[in-house]
Amino acid sequence: MSTEKNWTQAEVVALYNKPIMELLYEAATVHRTYHDPNKVQVSTLISIKTGGCPEDCAYCPQAARYHTDVKAERLMSVEQVKAQALAAKAGGSSRICMGAAWRNVKDGPEFDQVLDMVRTLNRLDMEVCCTLGMLTENQALRLSEAGLYAYNHNLDSSAEYYEEIISTRSYDDRLQTIENVRKTNITVCSGGIIGMGESIANRADMLITLASLIPQPESVPINALVPVAGTPMEEMETVSIWEMVRMVATARILLPQTQVRLSAGRTNMSREGQALCFFAGANSIFAGDKLLTTPNPAINEDMELFKTLGLIPQQPFEKKSQPKTIAMEDSQYQALGEKPQWSRPDHKIQRNLDKQHQEK
Ligand code: SF4
Repeated sequence: MSTEKNWTQAEVVALYNKPIMELLYEAATVHRTYHDPNKVQVSTLISIKTGGCPEDCAYCPQAARYHTDVKAERLMSVEQVKAQALAAKAGGSSRICMGAAWRNVKDGPEFDQVLDMVRTLNRLDMEVCCTLGMLTENQALRLSEAGLYAYNHNLDSSAEYYEEIISTRSYDDRLQTIENVRKTNITVCSGGIIGMGESIANRADMLITLASLIPQPESVPINALVPVAGTPMEEMETVSIWEMVRMVATARILLPQTQVRLSAGRTNMSREGQALCFFAGANSIFAGDKLLTTPNPAINEDMELFKTLGLIPQQPFEKKSQPKTIAMEDSQYQALGEKPQWSRPDHKIQRNLDKQHQEK
């Protein structure tokens, strides 16, 4: 069934602002058409390389320039990652997402180690996702060959508002990375964050950009900003549950077949609030007590909530079959040692510069 529709900003803002009962009914109807409303996919995020990131994303405690409590760490070993993945699997997770605080992937021993992690986790019969920053087509092909199921690269916000939060890489570079992933068999995971001071029109524009990708992303995480001391966004107000419900419902209507994931900010939501988000069309969560560096509900709490609501964790590879893992020695794609021309705009967002100088 085709889900294509060319949405205008005015239509999406009107949808977002509908009386909440109508919006919920419409979103839940779409949800039931395309998904089993009682199934929720459970992912666990492992921060395989924490902190020390050169970028200036105003919300992120891993940016080296903001001097938060996050300390830069080395890349984890394959064995460490495997042990955490097995624990997550035992807790009910079907997917592992490995996050590295890198600007972009660089060919070399660290990327080879990540490829080894992908091969190892795919052999555990789990869906494997990576979020490693910008990526060339050849690097995407190498990940695909290793058995990667999904690649996450968030848009974060609309093209217009993005320039208020990040100045060290461009929106077009983000879209280019998504396009590079699309040239392979890897599925696309891309979403954004609300509560960074953006307008509803900005939220609508971000969803329109995601909905206009052909095909639409298989997975769209919706994050609520978790303001972290030391970042330029430390004083932002917490997003209300109603904004989250509206955002999830609107995403569900624009992206009918996508798995819409409740991501950061879930610790600020009540169980009832999360239940409303599931009713509005969220059908994926991040489990585990940490999301990279921010707090998250423990997996036991999630499983209790699932029991209360009669929800069932989705099994791995229900939506798409398991990719094959090709051993390193049989690989068709070698490291090219590319030096891609990702844009390097000046660091120009005043509040980000102020924060950096203030903390020197
Ligand atoms: S969001 Fe990612 S790219 Fe941006 S500062 Fe944090 S780790 Fe770096």
